[in-house]
Amino acid sequence: MKVAPDRVTMSSSGASGASSGAGVEPSERLVIGVLALQGSYPLHSRAVERCGAIARRVRKPADLEELRGLILPGGESTAFAILAHKYGLFEPLRELGRGGLPMLGTCAGAILLGRGDEFPARLGLLAVDVERNAYGRQLDSFSADIDLEPFDSPFHAVFIRAPKFRVLDDSEVETLGVCGDDPVLLRGGNILLTSFHPELTDDLRLHQMFLESCRSARPRKSVAQTRTR
Ligand code: GLN
Repeated sequence: MKVAPDRVTMSSSGASGASSGAGVEPSERLVIGVLALQGSYPLHSRAVERCGAIARRVRKPADLEELRGLILPGGESTAFAILAHKYGLFEPLRELGRGGLPMLGTCAGAILLGRGDEFPARLGLLAVDVERNAYGRQLDSFSADIDLEPFDSPFHAVFIRAPKFRVLDDSEVETLGVCGDDPVLLRGGNILLTSFHPELTDDLRLHQMFLESCRSARPRKSVAQTRTR
């Protein structure tokens, strides 16, 4: 699926900018969760709203009810894992991911969704080993215009203490983009991973692509339905 470039200006202040969902009945708008424990969740929420969906900040298990998709932002994966355990989110996230809820993990969010033996504990929702800080330290952060398979023109990708992905089973995981030799955009079933930060530019194509997959996915069971309380 090709997604047309749709650049908007993100110069206004604040994380809860006006929604572009005007003209869409609230009942028709997708509710997309954004894990809001730490990190870059305000900008993801804003990108979701600019795409016309409703962004719900997720901090506790009840916030996961009735979502059509979930974004795990960049930030610090060790903090995510510690806080997700503390607030009782870790296992519900895993159950929803296994149940097929569309999830987008960017950078630290991708670390959490993938696999890896090192701290922190991972959700292990797809066959990708994710090595933290694999490009080096903060000073080794960089950005690059890269070709991503779903898009017709290059995407400006910002890498901040980014991880590297190693696909463990390419019958399960599709590589949709590379930077140099490194896969940077992967899809495995309902899970999309980026090692870069799509929320840091005004290019909404990646969020639009994710929301499209949320719209076409079958509505999922809620956490309450998948667990016995
Ligand atoms: N290096 C961070 C971590 O290990 C991820 C950085 C990011 O999300 N930009 O979690």
